[in-house]
Amino acid sequence: MAKIKVKTPMVEMDGDEMTRVIWALIKERLVLPFLDIDLKYYDLGLKKRDGTDDAITMEAASAIRKYGVGVKCATITPDAGRIREYGLKKCWPSPNGTIRSALDGTVFRKPIMVRNISPAVRNWKRPIIIGRHAYGDIYAGVEMTIDAPGKVELVYTTDEGRESRLLVHGFESPGVVMAIHNLERSIRSFAVSCITCALDERIDLWFSMKDTISKTYHAYFKEIFGREAAARKADFERAGINYRYLLIDDAAAQMMKQEGGILWAVSNYDGDVFSDVIAAGFGSLGMMTSVLVSPDGLYEFEAAHGTVRRHYYEHLKGNPTSTNPVASIFAWTGAIKKRGELDGTAAVQAFGEKVEKAVIACIEAGVVTKDLVPLMDPKPAGSLTTEEFIDAVAARLV
Ligand code: NAP
Ligand code: MG
Repeated sequence: MAKIKVKTPMVEMDGDEMTRVIWALIKERLVLPFLDIDLKYYDLGLKKRDGTDDAITMEAASAIRKYGVGVKCATITPDAGRIREYGLKKCWPSPNGTIRSALDGTVFRKPIMVRNISPAVRNWKRPIIIGRHAYGDIYAGVEMTIDAPGKVELVYTTDEGRESRLLVHGFESPGVVMAIHNLERSIRSFAVSCITCALDERIDLWFSMKDTISKTYHAYFKEIFGREAAARKADFERAGINYRYLLIDDAAAQMMKQEGGILWAVSNYDGDVFSDVIAAGFGSLGMMTSVLVSPDGLYEFEAAHGTVRRHYYEHLKGNPTSTNPVASIFAWTGAIKKRGELDGTAAVQAFGEKVEKAVIACIEAGVVTKDLVPLMDPKPAGSLTTEEFIDAVAARLV
């Protein structure tokens, strides 16, 4: 069979532990036998990041800026334990955080749905995608405990020396305070990325804050988001989708009654909470993909889960593992489909779809890894190792 030619190079970012093992299998068995593709390879494995003083991560981000589409394997975000385990020079930052800042992007998490796994929320028939704003709020908050009576004020001094003050609270007994901030340009980029994603997916866009209570801070988000959405009204109409603003509590309750097929854009903290609620509601981390979309239309695809450390240690002992490769496969197919769409190469797009259909056909035929067994109805007779599952998908491609 002749390989399908991919016109523009794609950026590939390798990663760590079990997902690195799975990554190589996907590439060798599901991608390279079928596509004639120029992959610009960046090894974001922890050893290489340490060896290059993390320069490799910035190089990968620049390459995505140059080529437009990247696919990334899960990577370790080091902590004290990892510094010892890998003998690191220092505690390098999360590669995802670095790439997200470099591309000024928003991360969208999307569940992969199959007929024989029902979401815990009965009404959900189509994916709910969460768009989480990833700048500021409590993640960049400053905090103070108050142990003696006194007053706390917000003081804003401009570079020219103009000053304004606001009383936070006059404390008569002990307490605590926090100040948070956000930036107009970050909120605007977030809105633009969410609008791009909703138009790409052709699904309704909801945005939720609590502006009835926070009449300045949350209202500022609502105003900017609403303005960006209004500017794209004609595109929304052409795509047959709607924009809605709802209060966050109302949206949370209504989401349970919806069929899905919604992109739900939320603030940083709400996104932290609700992305896990939605993931649990749909079933399994092994079936959740994630895409970083920048406001200028750059894309990076990955699995939403981590490097599956526990399974990797089993793998190192020589035990075969049954780690679910589906989210990593869909990272590859998401990138391949987007590459085909941007290049205008229908055959490339169709190949991405063919692999996704093969994966879903396997699962719906009861051919699955161990993690899915308890979620399935009817229950399959048994489960496959990671490698057996990938081979079962490959067998459906020829
Ligand atoms: P994890 O990789 O998300 O895995 C946690 C647990 O979830 C696993 O032990 C496994 O449960 C289950 N699981 C997750 N993905 C699975 C899959 N594909 N198939 C089957 N089961 C799956 O989190 P972790 O092991 O706690 O973290 C490992 C490393 O990942 C950390 O160093 C963290 O920094 C990194 N991380 C990276 C990213 C990223 O690059 N995007 C995201 C999150 C975390 P059982 O053990 O019960 O089988
Ligand atoms: Mg969280």
